[in-house]
Amino acid sequence: MQSANTETKVWSRNSASLEKRDVWSAMKRGFSGRCPRCGQGKLFRAFLKVADHCSVCGLDFTPHRADDLPAYLVIVIVGHIVVPAALWIETNYSPEVWLQLSVYLSFTCVASLLLLQPVKGAVVGFQWALHMHGFDDNDGGEISPG
Ligand SMILES: [Zn+2]
Repeated sequence: MQSANTETKVWSRNSASLEKRDVWSAMKRGFSGRCPRCGQGKLFRAFLKVADHCSVCGLDFTPHRADDLPAYLVIVIVGHIVVPAALWIETNYSPEVWLQLSVYLSFTCVASLLLLQPVKGAVVGFQWALHMHGFDDNDGGEISPG
């Protein structure tokens, strides 16, 4: 039986051979839309499109696997702000329903849109700092062709 010539990459925590990276500074840099390694180059090329590589240090961003995690985190963050506020306002002031809906829905939309890119950047910085996915073998900043 012939097997396809595919290399399976197993992610392991071989921390002895990996450089230590500061998780918080990488997440802060990602949160502000900057490269998690140098803090200079732009992380995003569009609203939620991560750039291919850092324009300053050349770090390859393609190994990131943020997927749906930023959206889930934004839902959790905004939900923990809006729901307690809505409950507190309803119990103490009980304003009209149309007023509550217009305020809560618009705040939820605006806060979610404002938080989505920074949270995605922080997730990418987190993955880079922990050498997750392909971030462990591109330390040299070399950009592989193709
Ligand atoms: Zn960089």
